[in-house]
Amino acid sequence: MTDETAVPAARGRKAPVSAAVCPDYRPETVRPALSSLLTQWEGFSKIQPGTKVAVKVNLVSAKAPETAATTHPELVCGLCRELVKRGALVTVGDSPGGLFTKEALMHVYKVSGMDRVEETGAKLNFDVSTGDVSFPQAAAAHVFTCTSWLQNADVIINFAKLKTHGMMRLTASVKNMFGSVPGTTKPEYHMRFPDTDAFADMLIDLNEYFRPSLNLVDAVSCMEGNGPTAGTPRDIGLLLASESPYDLDLVCADLIGLAASDVPTICRAAARGLGPADLSEVTRTGADTSAYRKPDFKAAAGKSVTFSGSGALGRFTGALLMQAMRQVPKVEPSECISCGKCFRVCPAHAISMKASGRAAKPARTGKAVSGRGAVPHIDRSICIRCFCCQEFCPVGAMKVHRTAIARLLQRKEN
Ligand code: SF4
Ligand code: SF4
Repeated sequence: MTDETAVPAARGRKAPVSAAVCPDYRPETVRPALSSLLTQWEGFSKIQPGTKVAVKVNLVSAKAPETAATTHPELVCGLCRELVKRGALVTVGDSPGGLFTKEALMHVYKVSGMDRVEETGAKLNFDVSTGDVSFPQAAAAHVFTCTSWLQNADVIINFAKLKTHGMMRLTASVKNMFGSVPGTTKPEYHMRFPDTDAFADMLIDLNEYFRPSLNLVDAVSCMEGNGPTAGTPRDIGLLLASESPYDLDLVCADLIGLAASDVPTICRAAARGLGPADLSEVTRTGADTSAYRKPDFKAAAGKSVTFSGSGALGRFTGALLMQAMRQVPKVEPSECISCGKCFRVCPAHAISMKASGRAAKPARTGKAVSGRGAVPHIDRSICIRCFCCQEFCPVGAMKVHRTAIARLLQRKEN
């Protein structure tokens, strides 16, 4: 995958989803679970001595394994051991939010425990070079910038974590490939693709460009609530695999009580003929995932509510109601530590830091005000609802907020 000619055309690629029971991260539990999934993967037997394998994990930020924000290092170590045994040259990495530098990567590897993969004979990625890619077959991201280490691999294994997400509702396989984009440029993508469907199309384009040979999801200890960085760990006890990220994500959505229609990437993949629109279309092997479903799994902002009316008046009213029910970011002042990170990551420049009830510095004209009393103020008229502020708040003080009318309608629906 080193030049444009190697880019495959987008096409449907249904594939079975395999599940293995893995109730915890002890090596003796992980080994058989991983082994049962790898033996079902045709590509595993094709790994030869010298094959360059990139294992793209989820390292959203510097979070310890027990927070359930990142792919668990014990699983990644187990995978690396199997690949190294076959003679593969394995590199593990990701582009977390923020700076894509060696120092920043070193910090994230250490805090997440991912530095342990070096004990298996695999390497951690420290190549921070990037390149521009042209992908004419894309639906949204015809041109994008990506990290070079993934482009230089013969085989990519996408090893995601099952979590909630403010904007995309679900982060699992498809969303994980957003880490192929350098952290510092991620906010630009929210501005380029501010609409939810366009953003979902962009994520699908990244998957179609890189086409990981295998997608794995760590659904052992997942994240519910204020995901993808500040939610609460919740055990499901499964490890999942598929050559199709779309089939795999539909099974993941079902596990955490989301319908296909709740998840924009699933809807857009189905509309583009790349993935299934309904769980009945997915072939499942291994453990019975229906026995592991958590219908009460807390979403980032509760379940979505839809309203549609017929006729011009009905459609107008429906559009107004949908507008009124939009989820928005909202700070919980009592939890805010006034670090200003939300201010710095906001791609729409919709945040200003207010001290003592007034803006201490005009947005983007100076540094964020830190210190006691400075809290973010969001200009809703320019907020694009990308939820970067919620994703990167280090203490989970920025929440996905549902309006009163949305909460009321949800109660009625329930
Ligand atoms: S305020 Fe938050 S959700 Fe709104 S544009 Fe800025 S980062 Fe995105
Ligand atoms: S990132 Fe979180 S803690 Fe920091 S200022 Fe924003 S809301 Fe407060």
